Amino acid sequence: METTQLTSQFFDLFGHKASGVSTAPGRVNLIGEFTDYNLGYVLPCALNFSTQVAFNTRADNQIEVYSLNYPGEKDTFSVDGEIVQGESQWGNYIRAVVYVLKKRGYQLGGAELLITSDVPQGAGLSSSAALEVSIAGALNKAFNLGISTKDIALIGQQAENEFMHCQCGIMDQLISAQGEQGHALKIDCDDLATESVAIPDDLSLVIVNSNYPRKLVESEYNQRRLDCEGAAEKMLVPTLRNANLALLEQTKNQLTDNEYKRAFHVLSENQRVLDTVDALSNNDMPALRDLLAASHNSLRDNFEVTVPATDGLVEIISKALDGKGAVRMTGGGFGGAVICLCRASEIDAVKAAVDAEYQPKFGLTADIFVCQAGAGLLVEEVS
Ligand code: ADP
Ligand code: MG
Repeated sequence: METTQLTSQFFDLFGHKASGVSTAPGRVNLIGEFTDYNLGYVLPCALNFSTQVAFNTRADNQIEVYSLNYPGEKDTFSVDGEIVQGESQWGNYIRAVVYVLKKRGYQLGGAELLITSDVPQGAGLSSSAALEVSIAGALNKAFNLGISTKDIALIGQQAENEFMHCQCGIMDQLISAQGEQGHALKIDCDDLATESVAIPDDLSLVIVNSNYPRKLVESEYNQRRLDCEGAAEKMLVPTLRNANLALLEQTKNQLTDNEYKRAFHVLSENQRVLDTVDALSNNDMPALRDLLAASHNSLRDNFEVTVPATDGLVEIISKALDGKGAVRMTGGGFGGAVICLCRASEIDAVKAAVDAEYQPKFGLTADIFVCQAGAGLLVEEVS
Protein backbone atom coordinates (compact mmCIF):
# COMPACT_ATOMS: atom_id res chain seq x y z
CA MET A 1 0.00 0.00 0.00
CA GLU A 2 1.17 3.54 -0.66
CA THR A 3 2.53 5.13 2.51
CA THR A 4 0.19 8.10 2.11
CA GLN A 5 -2.81 5.78 1.91
CA LEU A 6 -1.78 4.07 5.15
CA THR A 7 -1.13 7.33 6.99
CA SER A 8 -4.47 8.70 5.83
CA GLN A 9 -6.20 5.58 7.24
CA PHE A 10 -4.21 6.11 10.44
CA PHE A 11 -5.59 9.64 10.63
CA ASP A 12 -9.16 8.42 10.10
CA LEU A 13 -8.76 5.84 12.86
CA PHE A 14 -6.93 7.78 15.56
CA GLY A 15 -7.89 11.36 14.72
CA HIS A 16 -4.33 12.62 14.35
CA LYS A 17 -1.27 12.02 12.22
CA ALA A 18 1.17 9.10 12.31
CA SER A 19 4.74 10.15 13.09
CA GLY A 20 6.30 7.40 10.99
CA VAL A 21 5.92 4.23 8.93
CA SER A 22 8.01 1.09 9.43
CA THR A 23 8.21 -1.41 6.54
CA ALA A 24 9.69 -4.93 6.65
CA PRO A 25 9.53 -7.65 3.97
CA GLY A 26 8.71 -11.34 3.80
CA ARG A 27 11.40 -13.68 2.52
CA VAL A 28 12.24 -16.81 0.59
CA ASN A 29 15.28 -19.02 1.18
CA LEU A 30 17.12 -19.72 -2.08
CA ILE A 31 19.25 -22.49 -0.57
CA GLY A 32 20.67 -23.66 2.77
CA GLU A 33 17.84 -25.60 4.40
CA PHE A 34 18.10 -26.94 7.98
CA THR A 35 21.60 -25.54 8.15
CA ASP A 36 20.71 -22.58 10.43
CA TYR A 37 20.51 -24.40 13.74
CA ASN A 38 23.63 -26.34 12.80
CA LEU A 39 25.41 -22.98 12.59
CA GLY A 40 25.94 -23.28 8.86
CA TYR A 41 25.10 -21.06 5.89
CA VAL A 42 21.76 -19.90 4.47
CA LEU A 43 20.98 -17.75 1.43
CA PRO A 44 17.61 -16.02 1.79
CA CYS A 45 16.28 -13.12 -0.19
CA ALA A 46 13.86 -10.42 1.00
CA LEU A 47 10.77 -10.07 -1.19
CA ASN A 48 8.83 -7.16 -2.60
CA PHE A 49 5.93 -8.21 -0.33
CA SER A 50 6.04 -6.34 2.94
CA THR A 51 4.32 -5.44 6.19
CA GLN A 52 3.93 -1.76 7.05
CA VAL A 53 3.20 -0.22 10.41
CA ALA A 54 2.12 3.40 10.79
CA PHE A 55 2.84 4.56 14.32
CA ASN A 56 2.70 7.34 16.87
CA THR A 57 3.22 7.56 20.62
CA ARG A 58 0.55 8.32 23.22
CA ALA A 59 0.72 9.50 26.79
CA ASP A 60 -1.11 6.77 28.69
CA ASN A 61 1.26 3.75 28.35
CA GLN A 62 -1.36 1.79 26.39
CA ILE A 63 -0.54 0.12 23.09
CA GLU A 64 -3.51 0.14 20.74
CA VAL A 65 -3.05 -1.81 17.52
CA TYR A 66 -5.16 -2.48 14.45
CA SER A 67 -4.41 -4.55 11.35
CA LEU A 68 -6.11 -3.81 8.05
CA ASN A 69 -5.70 -7.55 7.38
CA TYR A 70 -8.03 -8.29 10.32
CA PRO A 71 -10.80 -5.70 9.99
CA GLY A 72 -12.94 -5.03 13.04
CA GLU A 73 -10.39 -6.46 15.45
CA LYS A 74 -7.97 -4.59 17.69
CA ASP A 75 -5.68 -5.32 20.60
CA THR A 76 -5.02 -2.97 23.52
CA PHE A 77 -2.63 -3.60 26.39
CA SER A 78 -0.54 -1.67 28.87
CA VAL A 79 3.24 -1.59 28.67
CA ASP A 80 3.29 -1.36 32.50
CA GLY A 81 3.49 -4.64 34.37
CA GLU A 82 3.80 -8.15 32.98
CA ILE A 83 3.05 -8.72 29.30
CA VAL A 84 0.80 -11.77 28.94
CA GLN A 85 -1.04 -13.46 26.06
CA GLY A 86 -4.19 -11.66 24.91
CA GLU A 87 -7.39 -12.66 23.12
CA SER A 88 -6.23 -11.64 19.67
CA GLN A 89 -4.11 -14.32 17.97
CA TRP A 90 -2.26 -11.82 15.79
CA GLY A 91 -2.13 -9.22 18.58
CA ASN A 92 0.11 -11.64 20.46
CA TYR A 93 2.91 -10.98 17.97
CA ILE A 94 2.88 -7.31 19.00
CA ARG A 95 2.76 -8.29 22.68
CA ALA A 96 5.64 -10.70 22.01
CA VAL A 97 7.88 -7.93 20.66
CA VAL A 98 6.97 -5.63 23.56
CA TYR A 99 7.63 -8.49 26.00
CA VAL A 100 11.16 -8.98 24.64
CA LEU A 101 11.95 -5.24 24.49
CA LYS A 102 10.93 -4.90 28.13
CA LYS A 103 12.87 -8.02 29.10
CA ARG A 104 15.94 -6.48 27.49
CA GLY A 105 15.48 -3.38 29.61
CA TYR A 106 14.16 -0.90 27.04
CA GLN A 107 11.83 1.86 28.26
CA LEU A 108 8.60 1.96 26.27
CA GLY A 109 5.55 4.20 26.45
CA GLY A 110 2.12 3.97 24.88
CA ALA A 111 1.69 3.77 21.11
CA GLU A 112 -0.88 3.68 18.35
CA LEU A 113 -0.12 1.21 15.59
CA LEU A 114 -1.84 0.47 12.29
CA ILE A 115 -0.61 -2.56 10.34
CA THR A 116 -1.14 -3.52 6.73
CA SER A 117 0.59 -6.21 4.70
CA ASP A 118 0.68 -7.89 1.31
CA VAL A 119 2.80 -10.78 2.60
CA PRO A 120 0.59 -13.87 2.23
CA GLN A 121 0.17 -15.43 5.68
CA GLY A 122 1.09 -19.06 6.31
CA ALA A 123 2.38 -19.44 2.74
CA GLY A 124 6.00 -19.96 3.73
CA LEU A 125 7.03 -16.34 3.08
CA SER A 126 7.42 -15.57 6.78
CA SER A 127 4.73 -12.99 7.38
CA SER A 128 5.38 -13.45 11.10
CA ALA A 129 9.01 -12.29 10.82
CA ALA A 130 7.91 -9.33 8.66
CA LEU A 131 5.43 -8.41 11.39
CA GLU A 132 7.91 -8.75 14.26
CA VAL A 133 10.63 -6.78 12.47
CA SER A 134 8.29 -4.00 11.33
CA ILE A 135 6.83 -3.64 14.85
CA ALA A 136 10.28 -3.65 16.50
CA GLY A 137 11.42 -1.09 13.90
CA ALA A 138 8.41 1.11 14.69
CA LEU A 139 8.90 0.98 18.47
CA ASN A 140 12.65 1.50 18.09
CA LYS A 141 11.97 4.73 16.21
CA ALA A 142 9.02 5.90 18.29
CA PHE A 143 10.96 5.62 21.57
CA ASN A 144 14.47 6.38 20.24
CA LEU A 145 15.82 3.07 21.50
CA GLY A 146 18.87 3.06 19.19
CA ILE A 147 18.64 -0.67 18.40
CA SER A 148 20.74 -2.02 15.48
CA THR A 149 19.06 -3.97 12.67
CA LYS A 150 20.89 -7.09 13.84
CA ASP A 151 19.41 -6.72 17.33
CA ILE A 152 15.98 -5.99 15.88
CA ALA A 153 16.25 -9.37 14.15
CA LEU A 154 17.36 -11.08 17.36
CA ILE A 155 14.46 -9.44 19.23
CA GLY A 156 12.02 -10.72 16.60
CA GLN A 157 13.43 -14.23 16.86
CA GLN A 158 13.30 -14.13 20.66
CA ALA A 159 9.68 -12.92 20.46
CA GLU A 160 8.80 -15.89 18.29
CA ASN A 161 10.81 -18.38 20.43
CA GLU A 162 9.82 -17.24 23.92
CA PHE A 163 6.36 -15.72 23.56
CA MET A 164 4.91 -17.45 20.50
CA HIS A 165 6.68 -20.73 21.36
CA CYS A 166 7.94 -21.33 17.84
CA GLN A 167 11.57 -22.49 17.79
CA CYS A 168 12.64 -20.78 14.56
CA GLY A 169 16.26 -19.91 13.75
CA ILE A 170 17.49 -16.37 13.02
CA MET A 171 17.23 -16.45 9.23
CA ASP A 172 13.73 -15.02 8.70
CA GLN A 173 14.13 -12.02 10.97
CA LEU A 174 17.69 -11.23 9.87
CA ILE A 175 16.86 -11.13 6.16
CA SER A 176 13.74 -9.07 6.88
CA ALA A 177 15.81 -6.58 8.89
CA GLN A 178 18.88 -6.46 6.64
CA GLY A 179 17.77 -7.41 3.11
CA GLU A 180 18.98 -5.28 0.25
CA GLN A 181 17.06 -4.47 -2.94
CA GLY A 182 18.06 -6.82 -5.78
CA HIS A 183 20.23 -8.97 -3.52
CA ALA A 184 20.15 -12.20 -1.56
CA LEU A 185 21.96 -12.32 1.78
CA LYS A 186 24.44 -15.05 2.63
CA ILE A 187 24.23 -15.50 6.40
CA ASP A 188 26.80 -17.37 8.43
CA CYS A 189 24.59 -18.63 11.25
CA ASP A 190 27.66 -19.17 13.47
CA ASP A 191 28.58 -15.49 13.90
CA LEU A 192 25.70 -13.83 11.96
CA ALA A 193 28.16 -12.32 9.47
CA THR A 194 26.35 -11.41 6.26
CA GLU A 195 27.32 -10.88 2.65
CA SER A 196 25.05 -9.35 -0.01
CA VAL A 197 24.86 -11.39 -3.18
CA ALA A 198 23.48 -9.66 -6.28
CA ILE A 199 20.63 -11.46 -8.02
CA PRO A 200 21.08 -11.15 -11.78
CA ASP A 201 18.56 -8.73 -13.30
CA ASP A 202 17.23 -11.33 -15.68
CA LEU A 203 16.56 -13.93 -12.98
CA SER A 204 12.96 -14.25 -11.82
CA LEU A 205 11.92 -15.67 -8.47
CA VAL A 206 8.79 -17.79 -8.67
CA ILE A 207 7.39 -19.17 -5.44
CA VAL A 208 4.76 -21.88 -5.58
CA ASN A 209 2.93 -22.73 -2.35
CA SER A 210 1.75 -26.35 -2.29
CA ASN A 211 -1.05 -25.56 0.23
CA TYR A 212 -0.42 -29.05 1.58
CA PRO A 213 -1.80 -29.20 5.15
CA ARG A 214 1.28 -29.39 7.35
CA LYS A 215 1.10 -32.04 10.10
CA LEU A 216 3.47 -33.36 12.79
CA VAL A 217 5.85 -30.60 11.85
CA GLU A 218 7.04 -29.82 15.36
CA SER A 219 7.86 -33.35 16.51
CA GLU A 220 9.56 -34.19 13.22
CA TYR A 221 11.52 -30.91 13.33
CA ASN A 222 12.71 -31.62 16.87
CA GLN A 223 13.72 -35.17 15.94
CA ARG A 224 15.87 -33.83 13.07
CA ARG A 225 17.57 -31.46 15.50
CA LEU A 226 18.30 -34.35 17.87
CA ASP A 227 19.72 -36.44 15.01
CA CYS A 228 22.04 -33.58 14.03
CA GLU A 229 23.15 -33.06 17.63
CA GLY A 230 23.72 -36.80 18.06
CA ALA A 231 25.86 -36.93 14.93
CA ALA A 232 27.97 -33.98 16.13
CA GLU A 233 28.42 -35.56 19.54
CA LYS A 234 29.64 -38.84 18.08
CA MET A 235 32.06 -36.97 15.80
CA LEU A 236 33.33 -35.22 18.97
CA VAL A 237 32.59 -31.72 17.65
CA PRO A 238 30.41 -29.03 19.29
CA THR A 239 28.13 -28.62 16.24
CA LEU A 240 27.99 -29.87 12.65
CA ARG A 241 29.66 -26.60 11.63
CA ASN A 242 32.89 -28.03 13.04
CA ALA A 243 32.61 -31.29 11.07
CA ASN A 244 33.27 -32.15 7.42
CA LEU A 245 32.39 -34.97 5.04
CA ALA A 246 35.75 -36.74 5.56
CA LEU A 247 35.17 -36.86 9.33
CA LEU A 248 31.62 -38.05 8.74
CA GLU A 249 32.84 -40.96 6.61
CA GLN A 250 35.46 -41.93 9.22
CA THR A 251 32.83 -41.97 11.96
CA LYS A 252 30.06 -43.51 9.88
CA ASN A 253 29.91 -46.86 11.72
CA GLN A 254 29.34 -45.15 15.09
CA LEU A 255 26.35 -43.16 13.85
CA THR A 256 22.78 -44.38 13.45
CA ASP A 257 21.51 -44.47 9.91
CA ASN A 258 19.45 -41.33 10.49
CA GLU A 259 22.26 -39.42 12.19
CA TYR A 260 24.49 -40.16 9.23
CA LYS A 261 21.90 -39.09 6.64
CA ARG A 262 20.93 -35.88 8.48
CA ALA A 263 24.58 -34.87 8.93
CA PHE A 264 25.36 -35.73 5.31
CA HIS A 265 22.58 -33.38 4.21
CA VAL A 266 23.74 -30.51 6.42
CA LEU A 267 27.41 -30.78 5.45
CA SER A 268 26.72 -31.07 1.73
CA GLU A 269 24.06 -28.31 1.89
CA ASN A 270 26.55 -25.86 3.44
CA GLN A 271 28.84 -26.40 0.46
CA ARG A 272 25.91 -25.92 -1.93
CA VAL A 273 25.20 -22.50 -0.39
CA LEU A 274 28.77 -21.40 -1.08
CA ASP A 275 28.58 -22.81 -4.61
CA THR A 276 25.24 -21.05 -5.22
CA VAL A 277 26.81 -17.71 -4.27
CA ASP A 278 29.37 -18.32 -7.06
CA ALA A 279 26.72 -19.49 -9.52
CA LEU A 280 24.67 -16.31 -8.90
CA SER A 281 27.73 -14.11 -9.40
CA ASN A 282 28.31 -15.83 -12.74
CA ASN A 283 24.59 -15.91 -13.62
CA ASP A 284 25.26 -19.60 -14.35
CA MET A 285 21.85 -21.22 -14.84
CA PRO A 286 23.09 -24.81 -15.37
CA ALA A 287 25.01 -24.60 -12.08
CA LEU A 288 21.99 -23.13 -10.25
CA ARG A 289 19.80 -25.87 -11.70
CA ASP A 290 22.14 -28.64 -10.51
CA LEU A 291 22.66 -27.09 -7.05
CA LEU A 292 18.95 -26.60 -6.35
CA ALA A 293 18.17 -30.08 -7.68
CA ALA A 294 20.85 -31.61 -5.43
CA SER A 295 19.46 -29.66 -2.45
CA HIS A 296 15.95 -30.91 -3.12
CA ASN A 297 17.05 -34.51 -3.57
CA SER A 298 19.01 -34.37 -0.34
CA LEU A 299 16.02 -32.90 1.54
CA ARG A 300 13.91 -35.72 0.12
CA ASP A 301 16.31 -38.64 0.61
CA ASN A 302 18.66 -37.66 3.47
CA PHE A 303 16.79 -35.15 5.59
CA GLU A 304 13.38 -36.67 4.67
CA VAL A 305 11.31 -33.51 5.01
CA THR A 306 9.54 -33.39 1.65
CA VAL A 307 6.04 -34.72 0.97
CA PRO A 308 4.65 -36.12 -2.31
CA ALA A 309 2.98 -32.74 -3.01
CA THR A 310 6.25 -30.76 -2.88
CA ASP A 311 8.20 -33.50 -4.67
CA GLY A 312 5.42 -33.47 -7.26
CA LEU A 313 5.58 -29.69 -7.72
CA VAL A 314 9.35 -29.84 -8.19
CA GLU A 315 8.90 -32.60 -10.76
CA ILE A 316 6.17 -30.74 -12.66
CA ILE A 317 8.17 -27.51 -12.72
CA SER A 318 11.49 -29.11 -13.69
CA LYS A 319 9.79 -30.83 -16.58
CA ALA A 320 8.25 -27.54 -17.74
CA LEU A 321 11.60 -25.75 -17.43
CA ASP A 322 13.33 -28.43 -19.48
CA GLY A 323 16.72 -27.58 -17.95
CA LYS A 324 16.27 -23.82 -18.31
CA GLY A 325 15.66 -23.06 -14.64
CA ALA A 326 16.29 -24.23 -11.09
CA VAL A 327 13.74 -25.51 -8.57
CA ARG A 328 13.61 -27.03 -5.07
CA MET A 329 11.48 -27.07 -1.94
CA THR A 330 12.11 -24.12 0.38
CA GLY A 331 11.37 -23.49 4.06
CA GLY A 332 10.64 -25.87 6.89
CA GLY A 333 9.38 -28.79 4.78
CA PHE A 334 6.46 -31.22 5.36
CA GLY A 335 4.56 -29.16 2.79
CA GLY A 336 5.08 -25.44 2.24
CA ALA A 337 6.49 -23.92 -0.89
CA VAL A 338 8.94 -24.52 -3.72
CA ILE A 339 11.22 -21.85 -5.17
CA CYS A 340 12.00 -21.63 -8.85
CA LEU A 341 14.73 -19.45 -10.40
CA CYS A 342 14.25 -18.92 -14.11
CA ARG A 343 14.22 -16.37 -16.91
CA ALA A 344 11.03 -14.30 -17.33
CA SER A 345 10.38 -16.11 -20.62
CA GLU A 346 9.82 -19.41 -18.75
CA ILE A 347 7.28 -18.14 -16.21
CA ASP A 348 4.21 -18.79 -18.37
CA ALA A 349 5.28 -22.38 -18.99
CA VAL A 350 5.78 -22.94 -15.26
CA LYS A 351 2.37 -21.47 -14.42
CA ALA A 352 0.63 -23.47 -17.14
CA ALA A 353 2.23 -26.74 -16.03
CA VAL A 354 1.32 -26.19 -12.36
CA ASP A 355 -2.25 -25.20 -13.28
CA ALA A 356 -2.70 -28.23 -15.51
CA GLU A 357 -0.97 -30.96 -13.52
CA TYR A 358 -0.86 -30.22 -9.78
CA GLN A 359 -4.54 -30.22 -8.85
CA PRO A 360 -5.45 -33.46 -10.70
CA LYS A 361 -2.51 -35.30 -9.11
CA PHE A 362 -2.70 -34.01 -5.54
CA GLY A 363 -6.23 -32.61 -5.12
CA LEU A 364 -4.80 -29.25 -3.99
CA THR A 365 -4.58 -25.83 -5.61
CA ALA A 366 -1.17 -24.17 -5.62
CA ASP A 367 -0.62 -20.41 -5.24
CA ILE A 368 1.98 -18.90 -7.54
CA PHE A 369 3.87 -15.72 -6.61
CA VAL A 370 6.24 -14.04 -9.05
CA CYS A 371 8.56 -11.95 -6.90
CA GLN A 372 11.56 -9.68 -6.89
CA ALA A 373 14.31 -9.32 -4.34
CA GLY A 374 13.09 -6.46 -2.14
CA ALA A 375 14.68 -4.27 0.51
CA GLY A 376 14.91 -4.92 4.25
CA LEU A 377 13.54 -2.87 7.13
CA LEU A 378 12.91 0.79 6.34
CA VAL A 379 11.61 3.25 8.93
CA GLU A 380 10.49 6.61 7.58
CA GLU A 381 9.36 9.73 9.37
CA VAL A 382 6.09 11.23 8.20
CA SER A 383 6.01 14.98 7.94
P1 ADP B 1 4.21 -17.39 8.08
O1 ADP B 1 4.78 -18.58 7.38
O2 ADP B 1 3.47 -16.50 7.12
O3 ADP B 1 5.21 -16.69 8.93
P2 ADP B 1 3.04 -17.91 10.64
O4 ADP B 1 1.95 -18.82 11.10
O5 ADP B 1 4.37 -18.05 11.24
O6 ADP B 1 3.10 -18.01 9.04
O7 ADP B 1 2.58 -16.40 10.88
C1 ADP B 1 1.29 -15.98 10.47
C2 ADP B 1 0.66 -15.20 11.61
O8 ADP B 1 1.33 -13.92 11.73
C3 ADP B 1 -0.79 -14.86 11.37
O9 ADP B 1 -1.63 -15.91 11.83
C4 ADP B 1 -0.97 -13.58 12.19
O10 ADP B 1 -1.15 -13.92 13.54
C5 ADP B 1 0.39 -12.92 12.08
N1 ADP B 1 0.39 -11.91 11.00
C6 ADP B 1 1.10 -11.93 9.86
N2 ADP B 1 0.85 -10.84 9.10
C7 ADP B 1 -0.04 -10.09 9.78
C8 ADP B 1 -0.73 -8.85 9.53
N3 ADP B 1 -0.54 -8.16 8.42
N4 ADP B 1 -1.57 -8.40 10.49
C9 ADP B 1 -1.78 -9.08 11.62
N5 ADP B 1 -1.18 -10.25 11.88
C10 ADP B 1 -0.34 -10.76 10.99
MG1 MG C 1 6.29 -17.56 10.56
